[in-house]
Amino acid sequence: MTDYLPQDSGELSLWGETAVDAVEIEKLRGLKEADVLVVGAGYTGLSCALHLVEQGVSVILLEARCIGFGGSGRNAGLVNAGIWQNPLHVVKHLGEEAGDRFNKALCHSHNTVFDLIDHYQIDCQAQRCGTINIAHKASAMDYLQKRCEQLQNIGAPVRLVDGDVARSISGSDYYSHGGILDPNAGTVQPLSYTRGLARAALLQGVQIFQESPLLSLERDENHWLATSAKGRVMVDKVVIATNAYADQNSQNVDSSMVPVFIFQCATAPLPTELATRIIPERQGMWDTQTLMTSTRVDEAGRLVMSSAGSLQSMNKSIRQNWMKRVRERLYPQTKNIPWAYQWTGQVGVTLDKILRIQLLAPGVFAPAGYNGRGIGPGTVIGKHLADTLISGNRNEFPFPVQTLYQEKRRKLRSMFYEYGTLALQLMDRR
Ligand SMILES: Cc1cc2nc3c(=O)[nH]c(=O)nc-3n(C[C@H](O)[C@H](O)[C@H](O)COP(=O)(O)OP(=O)(O)OC[C@H]3O[C@@H](n4cnc5c(N)ncnc54)[C@H](O)[C@@H]3O)c2cc1C
Repeated sequence: MTDYLPQDSGELSLWGETAVDAVEIEKLRGLKEADVLVVGAGYTGLSCALHLVEQGVSVILLEARCIGFGGSGRNAGLVNAGIWQNPLHVVKHLGEEAGDRFNKALCHSHNTVFDLIDHYQIDCQAQRCGTINIAHKASAMDYLQKRCEQLQNIGAPVRLVDGDVARSISGSDYYSHGGILDPNAGTVQPLSYTRGLARAALLQGVQIFQESPLLSLERDENHWLATSAKGRVMVDKVVIATNAYADQNSQNVDSSMVPVFIFQCATAPLPTELATRIIPERQGMWDTQTLMTSTRVDEAGRLVMSSAGSLQSMNKSIRQNWMKRVRERLYPQTKNIPWAYQWTGQVGVTLDKILRIQLLAPGVFAPAGYNGRGIGPGTVIGKHLADTLISGNRNEFPFPVQTLYQEKRRKLRSMFYEYGTLALQLMDRR
């Protein structure tokens, strides 16, 4: 049984500490055969594997570390529809028809997540209590109004709320201007959702192996032959779902994104009287600041906040202290409460902020570059990939597929994000 958790050295992840138990999973040994190989046990890979096996396709899933080791075990747990970018941004970059299909495929992605949770009775603290994109100043409402109209035009059930509603949802006088409320969205314990998907996939017959990285992929006349440390897999088709955690063995995926870090801090359970006044109905919340923070309260009343940057450096305490000051500005009642958990995750950013589905070779798909929004998109893309692999009909696939895509100046841009956010945090700005 692996003792790997989705956290980096010296960190303590709230999700690792409070998730449902991990399922016991072996390493790959010997030669196995199946129809499809899925690489990576996050939302994309697990959803794809589950939707394939549900339709009678045999699947082997290889995970390099443990279930949910990547973004899926580390994120903030806000289950939102669509991507970060506005629908018109997507249309501008993909064109009217492709953009419209893309937007429509994702505008109800939270339904897909909560339906799967219901169907497989996944124990993951799911709360369908809505999420709010909240304004930090009055002028941000112009932007939110335009965004709201665009979302409504593609059929998303969102609505604009005024300052009184924003204040009562957030429980903070700081957020007194309004926001966009999506009452169908919600929150999950992200690692428990991932482990629940893995449990469902195993029960349906997916063969999952962890601590079994894909090391190489070769084509013979009829099959793909994948090699791991102690075993091999022979399949017809492959989905590389390694996304922002792609290692050197899936380099084409890695180089299709710029690595950007997000850190999170969480308190111990707040005293009940305090916990009932902060986001009292437990919506997920993220604001319109340049250096955005997202805020939520988990089932036990822990306040969880996230923003940009890594804790894997000498700057750890600068970022943690900055986040504490931000917290105390939003919720002065939390003054002097220490952080009990802190951890870092990595997201893959693309230049146009739109995710990519690469066709690396015939029958080898690699979705990646979710730009920090992947619970809904990963689950939905996994499902659509499963349908497309089965039907063989790419016309039905609502996302553009492209051959090799590489981001330029990746290291430089990654450093720009890391040090740009640090500069703002040092200046105590957002
Ligand atoms: C801090 C943070 C906060 C976020 N907040 C939110 C949020 O609130 N809402 C939201 O919707 N999204 C959020 N996201 C984004 C979301 O978490 C990701 O987009 C999503 O988890 C991506 O899922 P995935 O399955 O595509 O990839 P991952 O979950 O990253 O899974 C990839 C897996 O591939 C494995 N792997 C890598 N190389 C190999 C190999 N060679 N062989 C086998 N396995 C391999 C990795 O170990 C990993 O487990 C956040 C992300 C972060 C980091």
